[in-house]
Amino acid sequence: MLSKLSIVKLWLALLGLAFLVSCSDAPERIEFSGGTMGTTYSVVLFSKDPRHSADKIQTKVDTVLERVNAQMSTYDLNSELSQFNQLESSEPVVISRDLERVVSRALTIARETDGALDITVGPLVNLWGFGPNGKPEQQPTAEELSAISKRVGYEKLSVSNHQLIKAHPEMYVDLSTIAKGYGVDKVGNLMDQLGINQYLIEIGGEILAKGGKPADEKWKLAVEKPVSTERAVQEIVEFKEGALATSGDYRNYFEENGRRYSHIIDPATAEPIQHNLVSVSVFADDAMSADAYATALLVMGTEKAKAFADANQLAVMLIYKTDEGFEEYTSRWFKPLLVSNK
Ligand code: FAD
Repeated sequence: MLSKLSIVKLWLALLGLAFLVSCSDAPERIEFSGGTMGTTYSVVLFSKDPRHSADKIQTKVDTVLERVNAQMSTYDLNSELSQFNQLESSEPVVISRDLERVVSRALTIARETDGALDITVGPLVNLWGFGPNGKPEQQPTAEELSAISKRVGYEKLSVSNHQLIKAHPEMYVDLSTIAKGYGVDKVGNLMDQLGINQYLIEIGGEILAKGGKPADEKWKLAVEKPVSTERAVQEIVEFKEGALATSGDYRNYFEENGRRYSHIIDPATAEPIQHNLVSVSVFADDAMSADAYATALLVMGTEKAKAFADANQLAVMLIYKTDEGFEEYTSRWFKPLLVSNK
């Protein structure tokens, strides 16, 4: 049995310990996750500020993501983008600054990539069964593809002075390839506004990191092997700040008559991509650009993607299929991120 004095001493010792812990300078690790944009998101951050509770920050994050959905989702018929898509008119439409920013960036990358990225491919994405209405009963015919292609083409879409204009009244804009990245960047802006300097934000695999971890540690992340049968690691990468996005054709696809149909459409052929490049990871300053370049390079195929990355000093990792299995190509700007390279 403990005497009263021993109990008092024990309490004092515990109080002392509690005091030491509360005075310690170590930032607290806060993490939470949720659902958005038909997928999941997760946030990890370090903060010493007692006002930064997981609940409070998550409520703010959800508000930011709900806004991006309300602006840019083609899965929500009432979103700002869906209303623009439903409007069968070539009259200029006043749009939000956020939508303007994303469409402008997408059109710039479309021009840089010679149309490999094309946010007007939506009708083709839907026709092939990868849009909000799901898989069609039958594959599209050549006539259907040719008819729809008339209202596809990024050159027919223009944005200026907060106005969006489609040259063909039946054009349909699909921001699925870039708005997830934008959502990540918006959550990053929120963290910055809250005075949080060390964070890792992820939506459906698109990532933005800032400030590293305490004790000057880098964030460590895995790039998946491009296989649909298991979740396995291809490479571990590490960095303190920056955005990483991966596009692949190994999760979202269907197979028919021995052919694999990917959700990535080559605007030049109006068909799902058919080549040996299966995964593209891009490291950039912002998640919106990383997200868009990853899709664009996947459309290009291995050789064009290598040449584009080298000419534009892009940090990329390509994984492509050969008869011997998967091969990897990393541009010289991506190599410093690889843990296996150290
Ligand atoms: P990425 O490579 O990043 O993008 C591929 C997508 O881009 C394709 O699926 C296609 O839509 C489009 N695309 C194909 N080819 C091209 C091309 N050449 N150029 C440009 N774009 C192309 N999904 C749901 O199931 N339910 C939802 O409620 C839902 N809401 C969403 C809300 C928002 C705001 C966004 C952005 C997406 C939403 N999604 C929803 C879509 C879902 O998250 C997508 O699967 C995802 O955005 C595609 O991302 P990815 O990383 O798989 O592929």
